This record gives sequence, C-alpha cells and structure tokens, in this order.
Amino acid sequence: MADSEFRTEGNMRQDMINEGNYIRPKAGSEAASCDAGTPPGDAGTPPGDAGTPPGDAGTAIPHRMCSGIAGTPPDDEGTALTAEEMAFMHDNLSDCTLCHRACHVDRLSGSLGFCRMDAGIHIARSSLHFWEEPCLAGEGGSGAIFFEGCSLGCVYCQNRSISGVGPHAHGVSARSLTVARLADEMLRLQSAGAENIDLVTPTHFIPQIALAASRARSKGLSLPIVYNTGTYEAAESIGLLKGCVDIWMPDLKYYSSELSDRYSHAPDYFSAAAAAISSMYDMCGPAVMDAEGRMKSGILVRHMVLPGHTRDSMAVLRYLHETYGDNIYISIMRQYTPMPGVADLYPELGRRVTDREYDKVLDYAIGLGITNAFIQDKETAKESFIPDFTQFH
Ligand code: SF4
Repeated sequence: MADSEFRTEGNMRQDMINEGNYIRPKAGSEAASCDAGTPPGDAGTPPGDAGTPPGDAGTAIPHRMCSGIAGTPPDDEGTALTAEEMAFMHDNLSDCTLCHRACHVDRLSGSLGFCRMDAGIHIARSSLHFWEEPCLAGEGGSGAIFFEGCSLGCVYCQNRSISGVGPHAHGVSARSLTVARLADEMLRLQSAGAENIDLVTPTHFIPQIALAASRARSKGLSLPIVYNTGTYEAAESIGLLKGCVDIWMPDLKYYSSELSDRYSHAPDYFSAAAAAISSMYDMCGPAVMDAEGRMKSGILVRHMVLPGHTRDSMAVLRYLHETYGDNIYISIMRQYTPMPGVADLYPELGRRVTDREYDKVLDYAIGLGITNAFIQDKETAKESFIPDFTQFH
C-alpha cells in the first residue's frame, strides 16, 4: 500500500479513501451531510440485483409500535406488556423465523432454537464503548448493549463468551431484562453521555427491541439507535424495526458460500445478508453525517478480513461498491484475533491477518474507487480489545 498520512482515533483510523490516499472525511460533504436541503447522495442509485429484491421491508405493525403502541403511552412505572405488545410478541416469537435458521420454535413457551434464547431479553454487558468507528464513538462513546446468544455462531467469534454458540463457547451469566427495563437501560446510557444506543448482536431479540425502543422514545430517548448485526436476519424481520433504527451497522462477512458454510454453518449467508442490507437501505437511504462527522442515519457495513481469505474480502467490497457506491460507509476491519482452540479445528484461522494481506485488500478498495471507508490499526488485533464481559457496566 502506498505511504500515506494516517491519523488514528482510538483503534479505528478515521479516514476515507480517495485517489490512492486516505484522507479524513470532509465534515458536511455533499454525499454525507445532514444539512437541510442537501440531498443525501445519489438516491437514484439502485441497490443492485444481488440478493432478494428489497420488497416491502417495513410493515405497519412495527412502525405503529415505534410510534407509541397505537396511541397508548406505556405505563411509566409498569413493566407488563399491553395486549397489543403481547400480540406482537406472539406473532414473532411463537413460531420463530426471525433469522434464516427458521427454527419454528415457540420461544414464548421456553423452547430454544439455534440461538438458544427464549423470549426473555438476555444481556451480557451494557456500558459506554469507545471502540466503534469514530463516527459512532464520538467523544462520549457508544451506549453499547451486548445481547447474549447468536443466530450465526461463527467458529472464530471474538465474543464467544456471550454468543453461547459454537464449538468453544463457555458462556457468561447474562442478565435478563423485561422490555421496560431494556427501555430504562437505553435511557440510563443516554444519561451517562452515550452518543447513541448501540445494539450488538440483536437479531434474535428484534421484537423485544422494537417494543423497548418505542417505550424509550416515549420517555425521552433522543439518541440515534444503531443496529449492529452479523446479518443473518430474514428481510421481513428487518422490517419490524422500521422507525426504530437510525443507523444500520450490518456485517457482510463472506461472499463465498463455501466460507460461510465452513465458518458460520450458513451456506446461504451472502444472499441472506445482501437481502437484509437491501431492506435496510430501502428504509434509511444514503448515509448522513452531521457537521462534526457523526453518523446520523444510514448504513455502515463492516467486513473483517480473515487470514488467507483476501480474495473473498475483495469480492465483498466489489459487491458493496457496485451496489451502493458511496451511499454507504464501509469499515474494513483487521481486528481478527485467533481465539484459543480455534486452530485445532481450523488451522488456517490460527494467525492474525498480515500487513501484506490487509494492504492488499485496502489497495483493492482504493482501486475500486471506494471513498467512504474506515480502516483499522494493526494494534486492534488483540484480545485486549474484546470487551470484558464479566462486568455488566
Ligand atoms: S432467532 Fe433465528 S436462531 Fe433464534 S430461534 Fe429464531 S429462527 Fe432460530
């Protein structure tokens, strides 16, 4: 990679790619400004033809929920669900197909699917988090709520202690919250100075989140809500969050079905993720930054480069650029850290990404003409950057 002036904030370089060099994003630039009257980029750029067509993401139900439960404000003190909230939960959890595992289990009765989560809300950690991309972490940090369980269960998961799935999961004891308490937790993080509410691995709790966000909004939550996902949701599930989520932060982990099958037991991952991202784009449109470079709405796609798989990374970047151009942001991550034991079953994953590999991917991104991107420092590939999930706050 050509020499360039990198500047670092936290563990994430806040740079954009432009003509072979990385430069700081221009605050309030045309493609990423929320100035009144400035069109947020080329809204006419279609999201491409990969994956399922956007369809009708966003149904009336979630929008109504996020607007205040059919006009009935939640009880300030109460934690019980209203009849309409209970019906919403029943519709979405009694025969669960929130993600592409399509387990068809009744989580309300305690049955568990692949994600191993019942209808409760199980959280491993809720705290200010300063290691997200600078446009999210800002000065105050993201108000990160780390949910337990996962619908993907990647074999190399960096958060395996809370994902609860995969061959090496050992688990930590999470807290179980009600919808009302989750709403209160969002408000607590706002009071603590968070820049946003960052929902980490939320897929299997979409209905509960929709209800909690609605309650939190009605009680004064004004921060953007970030949906930070591994991206294996059914596109219809994304629609349940219409009006709740401001910033979508989906992974696009693989292009190859062979890789997604080997590492995440999900051979249909790319088509599923592409359809989910398309649904997100239908709802939010091009990314919008404020004058300070903080993201206000839109999509920031994350892709973590894996050792030995630069070709797949390039295919992912090519797809994203051809489909969305600079209407989205892309975070090209190099923080992969081999977790204990992973190399026993997957020897190729037993090392970090080399400088050569990462630079190869970045050079490719530059060659494509990607301009809205974040890159990471080498130092991020350490276990010390993994949150301490033995602490709740
Ligand atoms: S969220 Fe996905 S993995 Fe979990 S029970 Fe529902 S369909 Fe299965």
